[in-house]
Amino acid sequence: MARRRIIAGNWKMNKTPSEAVALCAELKDLVVNDAVDVVYCVPAIDIVPVAEAVKGTNVHVGAENFYIEDKGAFTGEISAPMLKEAGVEYVIIGHSERRDIFGENDILINAKVKKAFASGLTPILCCGESLALRKAGTYKEWIKRQIEWDLTDVTADQVKTLVIAYEPIWAIGTGETATADQAQEVCKMIRETIAEMYDAATAEAVRIQYGGSMNAGNAAELLAKEDIDGGLIGGASLKPDFGKIVNA
Ligand code: PEP
Repeated sequence: MARRRIIAGNWKMNKTPSEAVALCAELKDLVVNDAVDVVYCVPAIDIVPVAEAVKGTNVHVGAENFYIEDKGAFTGEISAPMLKEAGVEYVIIGHSERRDIFGENDILINAKVKKAFASGLTPILCCGESLALRKAGTYKEWIKRQIEWDLTDVTADQVKTLVIAYEPIWAIGTGETATADQAQEVCKMIRETIAEMYDAATAEAVRIQYGGSMNAGNAAELLAKEDIDGGLIGGASLKPDFGKIVNA
């Protein structure tokens, strides 16, 4: 079964609302590709203007974060129903910056995955190892455990629509990319983990992205690998290069 490629930009804490609209206009003609799902995951304040700016185009809107309750006394947070009403379809969960800077653990990440599915949002679930784990050689065990924790009580039907992003932390924003073979090794292992946890059909359906300094120059080689179904792109998603990755 051919999996549909998914190229998602993670804008992180970049672009004011007017800058976000300008970026959408700059990228509009560059990101056209009917064979690819194109997603802009944008800061919360940019969601409404970006949803408006990409209306009628092939671009889907994603969020970078949300909280698991629908409403209430959670100062500073944003809920799944808020995202849905604003036109969001995807949400990044478990990014290493959320894990490391904001202290999100796998219990919360698992709750977010379940809440996203219950709310009709598609999670882009991030996993990946630190440089220390890569050097120690225990990275595969670590990532397997992240997947098992983060998907606790998530059903096979849900996982079939899930997007998993393998993002080695040592390659995020560093300019250092995992080689295509290193990325493929882990993406394959993630698919095998899904097969063990669920079944072959679920493993075949789940889409797995690579993320970590992907750019116009290295995207084609990474995306040619059997178990790499797309990319989660930080820095290069803010530039015309993003169009080259979509069309790599
Ligand atoms: C990311 O943070 O998801 C990411 C992949 O960033 P970059 O492409 O800048 O390494």
